[in-house]
Amino acid sequence: LFQTYIFCIFATMNSLKTLNPYFWKHRVLLFWGILFIIASNFFSIYQVQFVGKTVDLIKDVLDDHNVKKEVLFRTLLINGGIIVGTSILSGVFRFMMRQTIIVASRRIEYDLKNKIYKHYQELSLSTYKNTTVGDLLNRLSEDVVAIRMYLGPGIMYVINLIILLIITCVYMLMTNVEMTIWTLIPLPILSFIIYKVSSIINRKSKVMQKSQSAISTFVQDSFSGIRVVKFFNKEKYIEKNYGIKVKDYQDKALDLAKTEAYFFTIIIFVIGLLNVAILYMGGKNYFEGKLTVGTIADFFMYINILIWPFSMVGWVSSVNQRAAASMSRVNEFMDIKSEIVNTNFDNYTIKGDVEFRNVSYTYPNTGIKALDNLSFKLEAGKSLAIMGKTGSGKSTIALLLCRLIDPDEGEILIDGKNLKDHNLELYRKHIGYIPQESYLFSDTIENNIGFAIDHPTHALVEEFAKKADVHKNIVEFKEKYQTMVGERGVMLSGGQKQRICIARALIKKPEILIFDDSLSALDTETEENILQNIENDIKSCTSIIITHRESSAKRADYILNLTEIEVEN
Ligand code: ADP
Ligand code: MG
Repeated sequence: LFQTYIFCIFATMNSLKTLNPYFWKHRVLLFWGILFIIASNFFSIYQVQFVGKTVDLIKDVLDDHNVKKEVLFRTLLINGGIIVGTSILSGVFRFMMRQTIIVASRRIEYDLKNKIYKHYQELSLSTYKNTTVGDLLNRLSEDVVAIRMYLGPGIMYVINLIILLIITCVYMLMTNVEMTIWTLIPLPILSFIIYKVSSIINRKSKVMQKSQSAISTFVQDSFSGIRVVKFFNKEKYIEKNYGIKVKDYQDKALDLAKTEAYFFTIIIFVIGLLNVAILYMGGKNYFEGKLTVGTIADFFMYINILIWPFSMVGWVSSVNQRAAASMSRVNEFMDIKSEIVNTNFDNYTIKGDVEFRNVSYTYPNTGIKALDNLSFKLEAGKSLAIMGKTGSGKSTIALLLCRLIDPDEGEILIDGKNLKDHNLELYRKHIGYIPQESYLFSDTIENNIGFAIDHPTHALVEEFAKKADVHKNIVEFKEKYQTMVGERGVMLSGGQKQRICIARALIKKPEILIFDDSLSALDTETEENILQNIENDIKSCTSIIITHRESSAKRADYILNLTEIEVEN
């Protein structure tokens, strides 16, 4: 039992230690928050004695008709005034307490979210391959929320309880020692039971959330593949499966609701028991002449003030447990270091000489050796066509050249300098890369093409759309360059997407240009058109064209033919 209390304050600190700098950053707000908690509790406890005094006074009047009416009214008025006044003060401070502590927790949440997101962007591609998108999203949403619950309500209620307990104990002990003990004993038991119930609620709500996200995934999947579903006449089948999933969700939600119902039942039951105990003990002591009716009234008030915070301890410790688990997941993530780091921040120009010197690369997650001892040299302004079967490592060359991955052995030299020693940010500004799989953002065509540069003008976007031979398709759309693409936009053909990606890479006017099979979805005529249009762009930079077509390869100054590496068993 004792552990529960200790746990909720200290034990979770292990993984939550990471938050200390954030607490420090917002220390002023938190400091005021604690002061407001003290003030609010002081006023709500301070008024209690006046209830007892008033009750005693009324009793005196009833017992003994000699007490002067004016005295009675004056005292009633003063005591009433004090009770109302302190209630207002307590409420005001409670408001300020939320305004400081909850605000601080929201600010820390904001800091955390940004920090995690920034870290995501720094991670290397191989980390992304090892984690799912859902996992990444969870770190940002669910886990951060769990941590915020600890930061805000979690900490607030714990501090509140400690302060409240101290102030109340002082007043209660001053009033009556025996009654104090009777009031206090059952409360820790209450918080322990609530702690147990909260843990069960947490576990069940996790199960329910899982069931809910299974529904979302299922619905998303069946809508994305709606054409296939209709074509195969599978609507009934999908509907049935959906029904099963919804039923599962309902079962879990009802199960949770049942446990949640216990939460308040227990609290109300314990309040009842405590009231009976106070009534019994108080009554006994009253008849023995040890205390007054007013004191009994005071204790009824004290117990009602204490019961909520004590119930909250149980809830808070389960919240903190969750936060600790979330925090350690986040920490695990933040500890992953990117293998690709920039160490050079100089400003210089890039000419575009490219050299691979004995480069080998093995994918760490699969152990597939994609490149083995590859060497070639390409002077600035020249073009190189790379040919080879699928799986021969062509795309790997493109990734290495963009420094999305680093070679295991050998080195890549740009302008005679190891790529690892270049200013990565500057270098990436000077390369244009058209990936094998065209990816467009859910945005307008104009923004997708202009994405590559800082301040794209419409004229520039159009110029490069023309070069990529996609302008004629774009103007056929109703909203032309403002047409939305991606999930909520028009369906583009593979070839249209590829050409938009080409325009996006060319608009940068790069020194090094890499086409990774970027013309594969185009017919020979369109391909010829594009290559014709961008002849000057290609001549003005070093270009590497990965292709399957002899005809396009022949345009290049050199051709590199990769043969697949024999895999030893
Ligand atoms: P190409 O572009 O010539 O088709 P790739 O460079 O894409 O070839 O791939 C070379 C080899 O590396 C293939 O055997 C492929 O299966 C493997 N490979 C490619 N990408 C990855 C990856 N992300 N993780 C593990 N293995 C990969
Ligand atoms: Mg490829």
